[in-house]
Amino acid sequence: MSSESALRPQPAPKGAAVVVVGGGVTGLSAAWWLAQAGVDVLVLEKGIVGWEASGRNGGGATHAVSPLFREEQRLWPMMDELLGYPTEYQPYRIRVALNESQLAQHRRMTQLAVSQGFETELLDPKALRELVPLVGDTVAGGIFCRYGGHANPQRTVQAYAWALQDRGGRIVQHAAVHDITLRNGRAVSVETSQGSFGCEALVLAAGPQTALLAGRLGVEVPIAPARAEMIVTEPVPVMRHGGVDGGGLYGRQTLRGNLAYGGGPHEWLEAQDLQPRRAATSPVMRSLARRMRDLFPKAAHVRVIRSWAGIVENTPDGRPILDRLKNPENVVIATMSSVGFGLSPASGRAIAQLAVDGRCNFADLRQLDLARFAGLAADWRERRGWVPWSPSGADNLMVES
Ligand SMILES: Cc1cc2nc3c(=O)[nH]c(=O)nc-3n(C[C@H](O)[C@H](O)[C@H](O)COP(=O)(O)OP(=O)(O)OC[C@H]3O[C@@H](n4cnc5c(N)ncnc54)[C@H](O)[C@@H]3O)c2cc1C
Repeated sequence: MSSESALRPQPAPKGAAVVVVGGGVTGLSAAWWLAQAGVDVLVLEKGIVGWEASGRNGGGATHAVSPLFREEQRLWPMMDELLGYPTEYQPYRIRVALNESQLAQHRRMTQLAVSQGFETELLDPKALRELVPLVGDTVAGGIFCRYGGHANPQRTVQAYAWALQDRGGRIVQHAAVHDITLRNGRAVSVETSQGSFGCEALVLAAGPQTALLAGRLGVEVPIAPARAEMIVTEPVPVMRHGGVDGGGLYGRQTLRGNLAYGGGPHEWLEAQDLQPRRAATSPVMRSLARRMRDLFPKAAHVRVIRSWAGIVENTPDGRPILDRLKNPENVVIATMSSVGFGLSPASGRAIAQLAVDGRCNFADLRQLDLARFAGLAADWRERRGWVPWSPSGADNLMVES
């Protein structure tokens, strides 16, 4: 995670043309795009930048299902240059199949990217072992995706924050927003633990807490937060491509060689209950370690040296919500439904355009508007079993690949 000392000292500003609530990758990227366009922008963060999911994720940037996919793929290879700081971005993904059924599943999933003009290559076990020497002798094969990629989340948060400051954007940390003041149908200021900050436009990019803030405006944003875990091993020899997934795990090999992986089950939480338990728990860690051993049998001997938990934000259909509200009409809602890291270069650009122009000129965001949930039942979480564990509850763990 980026540390406070990593940010340059700044005078305490009071307000900006655009105020962004949330110093994760979504808010920071949006603010950076705004600052690039010469807009006076201020990010308010309740803790320190990147402390939540944005600094704790798997670093994957491969979201073929998103209307922002093309822009995600276009921007990532340029981000180090655009930001002026390293994100450790590496291109491509390799999907490992431990059996024929997984291979068929990977083929189905990669079709979406193929149908958008991206290329894949089927790898037989020998070809896969050449690219990923850590897989076992009985592996079924894999798919080389000539798209997608991964980056270092903490480096990326820091790069956005520094690049934002380089362009005159401001960040105030330890400023928790607890209310929003409206006048004549517009948000005119946010009220924080460090006082009031005026704004002409407001972006709510507070991860799972976006729902609580939108609630202050009388706007319902359906989000179910869940706790997810990752483990990191000692370094192993660096592979040609570090973005290797499979067996229900996501993750990457770091430039130093560590294997950093996560995967379900995830634990559902209440929106008000996001403070505790950012440490990993041994049952989930054991499950991750076991599946990593199955995915990379040739690395079964290496030790797990670090672990942590983070909170993912899930909408009912698994897609982000990026929308400029009708009332109050100067507020943009931006919450990313567990795919926010990879999409951040593109989501930030889209959010900046929504804040300034009211529309995005490079992607069709209709699939991401809030109105799609208009008919959602009030008890949608209970109906899906997306509720926190209770002694009487049965299956309230989310299994996710
Ligand atoms: C273990 C794990 C693995 C993941 N793997 C991937 C992956 O491989 N690829 C991918 O694309 N995504 C992944 N994700 C999801 C991704 O990390 C998130 O979708 C993304 O980071 C969301 O960014 P954000 O800026 O919208 O929200 P957050 O990172 O949650 O940031 C929101 C910020 O708002 C601040 N905030 C909240 N309330 C207030 C308030 N009232 N006042 C001021 N500030 C406030 C918070 O402190 C926080 O810093 C993963 C997530 C986890 C936890």
